[in-house]
Amino acid sequence: MRRLRRAKIVATLGPASGSPAMIDKLFKAGADVFRINMSHTSQDRMRDLVEMIRQVEDANGRPIGILADLQGPKLRLGTIRDGAIAVKQGDTVVFDQDPAIGGADRIYLPHPEIFVAVEPGHTLLIDDGKVRLTVTKTEPGRITARVEVAGKLSDRKGISVPDTTIPLSALGTKDLSDLEAALEAGVDWIALSFVQRPEDVAEAKKLTRGRALIMVKVEKPQAVNRLTEINEIADALMVARGDLGVEMPLEKVPGVQKQMTRLGRATGKPVVVATQMLESMIASPVPTRAEVSDVATAIYEGADAVMLSAESAAGQYPVEAVSTMSRIAQQVESDPHYREIINGQRAQPEATGADAIADAARHIADTLDLAAVICWTSSGSTALRVARERPRPPIVALSPKTETGRRLAAVWGVHCVVTEDAHDQDDMVDRACRIAFREGFAKPGQRVIVVAGVPLGTPGATNMLRIAYVGDDDIAD
Ligand code: PEP
Repeated sequence: MRRLRRAKIVATLGPASGSPAMIDKLFKAGADVFRINMSHTSQDRMRDLVEMIRQVEDANGRPIGILADLQGPKLRLGTIRDGAIAVKQGDTVVFDQDPAIGGADRIYLPHPEIFVAVEPGHTLLIDDGKVRLTVTKTEPGRITARVEVAGKLSDRKGISVPDTTIPLSALGTKDLSDLEAALEAGVDWIALSFVQRPEDVAEAKKLTRGRALIMVKVEKPQAVNRLTEINEIADALMVARGDLGVEMPLEKVPGVQKQMTRLGRATGKPVVVATQMLESMIASPVPTRAEVSDVATAIYEGADAVMLSAESAAGQYPVEAVSTMSRIAQQVESDPHYREIINGQRAQPEATGADAIADAARHIADTLDLAAVICWTSSGSTALRVARERPRPPIVALSPKTETGRRLAAVWGVHCVVTEDAHDQDDMVDRACRIAFREGFAKPGQRVIVVAGVPLGTPGATNMLRIAYVGDDDIAD
């Protein structure tokens, strides 16, 4: 089964979609990667979902990516008498470290790290920014703040501190346990929430030890400020527009999206654009015009993937949401402006064999109007460098490793086929042509380009490029 688009689709699983039949429908409609949100999923349920996805993968004979999204250090208020208190503009609210139930006089804030980090003048945002306060005074173990935007302070609601970096790891106790469980279950990608510093990513990479790739959710201004350093260590980025829009002015989020898609493209790191892309489809079979335009914008920018959250996890129209995204991507990619924009944003190749070959492959594919760029890749890194070029024809990646196929499911334009390594150069070219035909990428008489590193399986050794004809003998089996 081949997709008729280059951009990929990530679909979050939840109550509306957590059955083998629904996962199969979502995959057939166009979902390339399934996201399991550990904020709302138990480890047992996560293991069940992974098993269901692997069944769907077997039944369809295509690698499917699984992204386990860790909750991260979500800061929350303590409990409040009668569940909530209403605050008015100008009211004074005191936060302290006393675990006693809170009320109008004071509220427990169970995060000592906040008390040492905030300063007078800093903003506190509660309940996704619905209530806004300004810190007026800090004393040891006590913060006094003035209410700027009124609302309700409810039990255990989230609190954001956008003006300062909290000395808190991106991996709390629950995250460490969820991370290990997800790795044991065999997920392909780990999404890290509320990253603030490059060190947060380095810590996750150390714990993961290559068993999965790390996608950094950029959802805090602190991460935006250190984006280049974070991107260097990350394997991929997610524009987590939900929390980003709480922690920074909403009107700045589109600019950050552009900054991230361009940085990811320039450095060859996949970028996923997430949150509220087709929000109205939670309750409607048809999206709004603005939502269609939002998805289209992400595709025009060259994002690797667009993501569905509640639309596929808890909405009434999960399959329709996936197929709508797929149709939008196909339409955008067939628009001549798309190519213009994609070509206009191409970064120079880095001075490596892999980039020189990827750049040359893209040039040759254009000059000769080739049917596909086929690359032999063990870890997936050659495929990533080819994808960074955003060539016009599809990229077919051939890898002996199932996990590489699954990881590449999140990458722009890459259709990965898991197949044993070639024996020699002739086998490499012959099999590339046969697989390109079998998978529907090339017909007899068409030419393809084959990229590889010889000897095969040597990471970073991309050094070979062949133009090959798909012949009648390639359709024999
Ligand atoms: C977001 O905030 O946009 C996001 C993707 O994270 P979550 O859905 O976990 O809040």
